Amino acid sequence: LAMVSGPEQYTPGDQELPVQLTSMKEMLQWARSKSVWPLGYGLACCAIEMMASASAGQYDLARFGSEVFRSSPRQADLMIVAGTVSTKMAPRLRLLWEQMPEPKWVISMGQCANSGGEFYDSYYTVQGVDNIVPVDVYVPGCPPRPEALVEGILKLREKIAKQGLKIRGEEKVVAQRES
Ligand code: SF4
Repeated sequence: LAMVSGPEQYTPGDQELPVQLTSMKEMLQWARSKSVWPLGYGLACCAIEMMASASAGQYDLARFGSEVFRSSPRQADLMIVAGTVSTKMAPRLRLLWEQMPEPKWVISMGQCANSGGEFYDSYYTVQGVDNIVPVDVYVPGCPPRPEALVEGILKLREKIAKQGLKIRGEEKVVAQRES
C-alpha cells in the first residue's frame, strides 16, 4: 500500500513523488490508535479531571484524536472509568462495556477505580474495576491530574499500535475452533 507523504515534503521539480510504503495491517493499527473515542462515564470526583482533559484548552485531547466523548456505548471504543464504582453500579458498568463494539479498551482512572482506594475499603465499593471488566491501562492518583490521563491515553495508543488486528478473546475462539 502506498501513502503519499504530506505536501510540505514535496519540492516542485522533483521527478519522483514522495511515497511511503506500508501494509494494510499497519495502516489500520495506525488509524485505530489515533482516533479512540471515549464513552462519557464519570462516576465521582475523578470525572471533573476527565472533563478538564477533554475540554480545557491547555490539555486539549483533540490533539490526540480522543476529544469526541460519546453518550452511546455503541459509538465508543474506550471506557474511561473515572471514579468510585459502587456494587450497585457494577452490573450497569458491565452492561455498557458489553454494548461497546470490538475492538474496545478500558482505562481505569484514579485509586477508587484501580483498587477501591483507602477511603472505600468497604462492602459497597468494588475493590478494583478489573473485577468487572478487563483493564488496559491504570492511571494512578486521587485524583489523577489531566496530564496523567493524557499520559494514560498515549500509553493506550502505543498498546493499540502493537496489538495487531486481533480483538479481545479472538485467540481463545481460534483455539476452540482448532480443537
Ligand atoms: Fe475521588 Fe480520589 Fe476516588 Fe478519584 S480516586 S473518585 S478523586 S476519591
